[in-house]
Parts: sequence; C-alpha cells; structure tokens
Amino acid sequence: MASFDDFKFNRQLLNAIADAGYTEPTPIQQKAIPPILNGQDVMGIAQTGTGKTAAYVLPLVMKLKYAQGESPRALIVSPTRELAMQIEQNIQKYAVYTDLRAVVLYGGIGPKTQIEQVKKGVDIIVATPGRFMDIYLAGHIHTKGLQILVLDEADKMMDMGFMPQINRILEVVPVKR
Ligand code: AMP
Repeated sequence: MASFDDFKFNRQLLNAIADAGYTEPTPIQQKAIPPILNGQDVMGIAQTGTGKTAAYVLPLVMKLKYAQGESPRALIVSPTRELAMQIEQNIQKYAVYTDLRAVVLYGGIGPKTQIEQVKKGVDIIVATPGRFMDIYLAGHIHTKGLQILVLDEADKMMDMGFMPQINRILEVVPVKR
C-alpha cells in the first residue's frame, strides 16, 4: 500500500494530511507528487474527485515551506471563480501548520480588496486569467519571483477561450519555473 511517508514531506504537511483524514495518496497523487517535488513539469489528466487538487497543492506547500518576502512564488490559474475558491480552501487546509499566505483573485467584484491583500505580501496567488492580468497590468503583482505555475483545468480554459490570456500570463512568468 502506498503511503504519504514515501514522499519527503515535512512534519507540518504530514500533520495536515493526517488532520484531513487521508490514509494513502490517490493514484494521481502517487504519480504526480514525486516529479513535482523534483522540479519537473507535470501534465496530469484526472477527473474531479480523484484528489487532483492535493496532487499539486501538497508538493507546492512542501516546496514553498513558509512565508517569504512580498512577491508571490506560486501562481495557480483557474477557469472559474468557484474552482479558484475551492483551490484556496485546499491551500488553507494543507498549509494550516505553516504561515504561507494565499490570496484568491477573481472578477465579478471590485478589485480594491484583492489589490490590498496582494500588497500585504503573498506567497501563493490563485486567480482567474482575466482578473490576474488586470491586477498585473495595474502594476500590483511582481512576477519575477514566480517559481511555480499551475494551470488547473487547462483544457477547460482553452474551451472557454482563455488562450490569449494564458499566453500573456506565460509571457510575464519567468521562463525557469
Ligand atoms: P479533487 O479531485 O481535488 O476535487 O478532490 C476530491 C476530494 O478528495 C476532496 O474532498 C479531497 O479532500 C479528497 N482527497 C484528496 N486527497 C485524498 C486522499 N489522499 N485520501 C482521501 N481523500 C482525498
């Protein structure tokens, strides 16, 4: 039986996983976590309900470890506000024993509060493509420090016509990530 102890996770993460009640990694987690921890680019295909969010959030929390500086080190792009909020809840759950700071940026409401959160300093940004670009172009997000980029439901983002925004995001993210 596969175990979370097979990954080189730290105590903070293993405790959060235990709190969540997970006893073993799901198949997508078994396949994706080792190469992500190794710094490789990974493309995963898995249905909702398979633990796909934890498959990238767990190694992301492991790699970032604790709050550092002002600028984000990870960017997670999501096609919808609902998914962005779910991802942020996952981050809160798995990062509960760390001081990592996550903010979620999406449209449909004014950007003022979101900009204020970003300016306080942030480690992880979860965002829909359009709102991310708006706040970036307004000069509030420094992308130089981004080390990790996740495109969640990339296929859906393409179907929804987000490709131009995704390409612009790829242009402003450092190449080595
Ligand atoms: P997702 O596929 O990311 O939408 O996750 C579906 C559900 O699976 C969520 O409610 C997670 O909390 C849960 N989950 C994720 N990883 C595990 C695991 N290793 N064992 C049991 N449940 C999990």
